[in-house]
Order: sequence, then structure tokens, then C-alpha cells
Amino acid sequence: MIPVIDKTVCTECGACVEVCPPRALVMRSEKVFLEEEFCEECGFCGAECPANAIKIDFPKKDRPRPG
Ligand code: SF4
Ligand code: SF4
Repeated sequence: MIPVIDKTVCTECGACVEVCPPRALVMRSEKVFLEEEFCEECGFCGAECPANAIKIDFPKKDRPRPG
């Protein structure tokens, strides 16, 4: 699952763009966009966002397997 940016909370500060390793997050006309096909699901953007606007849920990748 890719990150979802809550645009009602996002301040378009660009902090997430700076930390995205594959540059999947880009600024266009001072707005942040996610190029989903480049996202590697690292979670850095969600950890960096000062507005807590990025919701991430990577169940298959991050959760330890039961047992
Ligand atoms: S999860 Fe990682 S690769 Fe995907 S948009 Fe966020 S920082 Fe970029
Ligand atoms: S770090 Fe958060 S508030 Fe800043 S542009 Fe990215 S999603 Fe928006």
C-alpha cells in the first residue's frame, strides 16, 4: 500500500519530498504529489511529516508474521 497524503492537513511544506529516496514525492506548483509507481514503501515520508498528514499502512511488508 502506498502512502496517502491528507490534503486537508498537509501544509505543502515539502519536508516529505526531501526525504523520499526514490524521489516519488515531487513538488509541482508548490503542491506535493506522489508518483505512486516510484514509491518503495520505506515510510520515511510519514515519519518526517510535521503535520502528520501522511497515512501509511504496509501490512505485508512491515508486520512480523504471527508465530
Ligand atoms: S514511502 Fe518512501 S518511497 Fe514512498 S513516498 Fe514515502 S518516502 Fe517516498
Ligand atoms: S511533509 Fe507533510 S505537510 Fe509537508 S508537504 Fe509532505 S505531506 Fe505535506
